[in-house]
Amino acid sequence: MSNPDFHGSLHAAPAGRGAAVEFDHISKDYGDLTVLHETSLRIEPGELFALIGPSGSGKSTLLGMLAGFVPPSYGAIRVDGTDIVAVPPYRRNIGMVFQNYALFPHMSVAENIGFPLKMRGCSRGEIAERVKRALAMVRLDSMGERRPAQLSGGQQQRVALARAAVYDPRLLLMDEPLGALDKNLREEMQEEIKRLQRALGATVIYVTHDQQEAAFLADRLAVMRAGMLEQIGTPRQLYEMPGTHFVASFLGEAS
Ligand code: ADP
Ligand code: MG
Repeated sequence: MSNPDFHGSLHAAPAGRGAAVEFDHISKDYGDLTVLHETSLRIEPGELFALIGPSGSGKSTLLGMLAGFVPPSYGAIRVDGTDIVAVPPYRRNIGMVFQNYALFPHMSVAENIGFPLKMRGCSRGEIAERVKRALAMVRLDSMGERRPAQLSGGQQQRVALARAAVYDPRLLLMDEPLGALDKNLREEMQEEIKRLQRALGATVIYVTHDQQEAAFLADRLAVMRAGMLEQIGTPRQLYEMPGTHFVASFLGEAS
């Protein structure tokens, strides 16, 4: 059983009033299988919020609902106070970075980064200006003309970050963005993500199965288990006062 003291007022917070993101009693069923059970979660503006938990616990499903890939079976999702469930994915203005970052191989780095702006009908001048700024943000200033294949894995992932950040989204979703990288590169990229978040002032929701990564990056984190949020808190709260045996053993595992 989870301990209600550890969820406190952060769990199932009341609607409205300034949250960046609110999941309000969200459920997801696939036929007879319920993969999210009336999940409520409130994320504050500018927070880097990590979702951690074992494989299959529902982390990607929750992010997919925000992104618009996965319709909820029940419940409301609000971004800046507005219910977005009926808003199509391309109208949500949410930046996304996933493990398989899928850069377009036939486009230059600059064209890759500018692509979301082109889709939004921005002028050439504005695209050039914003791409230049995004390249600088991830310290790839001189790489704009290269093809993705001419970059290292870490550089390619930085291009994916720049592409997600190029239109100044208020909200960035990252689903295991560093999962494919080796340990040294992962640590370097964690710094990069922190820097990027500060530069954008964006709210970030970060999914990882790596507890250390979550503890390093996150302002707060939630541990998911079988479609439920087992505990929510700062890394320190979770490590010092794990609310359940499951949380304690999950945080204690080597990643
Ligand atoms: P995580 O990201 O934490 O690994 P997911 O959100 O991907 O977990 O999956 C949660 C559960 O939902 C898993 O049991 C998974 O098998 C199931 N699931 C995900 N997508 C589908 C789908 N399209 N159809 C049926 N089951 C699904
Ligand atoms: Mg997943």
